[in-house]
Amino acid sequence: MPTIDEFRAEVRGAVVTAEDADYDDARAVWNAMTDKRPLAVIRAEQVADVIAAVNFARDSGLELSVRGGGHSAPGFGTNDKGVVIDLSMMRHVHVDPKAGTARAGGGATWGDFNYATHAYGLATTGGIVSTTGVAGLTLGGGIAISPAASGSPWTTCDR
Ligand SMILES: Cc1cc2nc3c(=O)[nH]c(=O)nc-3n(C[C@H](O)[C@H](O)[C@H](O)COP(=O)(O)OP(=O)(O)OC[C@H]3O[C@@H](n4cnc5c(N)ncnc54)[C@H](O)[C@@H]3O)c2cc1C
Repeated sequence: MPTIDEFRAEVRGAVVTAEDADYDDARAVWNAMTDKRPLAVIRAEQVADVIAAVNFARDSGLELSVRGGGHSAPGFGTNDKGVVIDLSMMRHVHVDPKAGTARAGGGATWGDFNYATHAYGLATTGGIVSTTGVAGLTLGGGIAISPAASGSPWTTCDR
């Protein structure tokens, strides 16, 4: 079974445990109804960190959670005694104005997305609050800002 130190040595993002001074910051989620104490939080910097974290959790028999914007009311983005992949360092948004498409990093929020697309005069049907994660909302929400004129809400997957 791999150790935390072996995991740390393998990745570029910081691996934070209860012994670190910034543990409380690292384990905190935006939705303060959830207060959990994972064994380790990795602040993933790139895809290789995510792969390493999945392997570490699997090989150690630990629960694994993925955290985007941290808004989940049931606290699905974290856990007790397991591994949390914090994607908040992976917030890039790449806009292709010709195709009218955008690719968002796993930790991008709707604020990040709107900032990037606005520069091109583009927008899509995202969430109401800027700090909600793009991926989390798309997977587990999907109710978009309802334009006053439309009469009914749009869904994120409409656009
Ligand atoms: C203030 C507030 C406003 C909201 N507004 C809206 C709204 O306008 N429309 C709407 O439809 N919903 C809305 N929601 C609900 C919201 O969409 C869901 O709670 C959503 O799941 C939150 O995603 P997150 O990334 O912020 O949260 P997290 O807690 O980080 O993640 C939620 C779930 O998504 C998974 N996840 C997150 N990112 C990834 C990823 N990159 N890859 C794989 N899995 C991932 C997590 O593992 C977890 O299971 C709102 C919630 C709050 C608290």
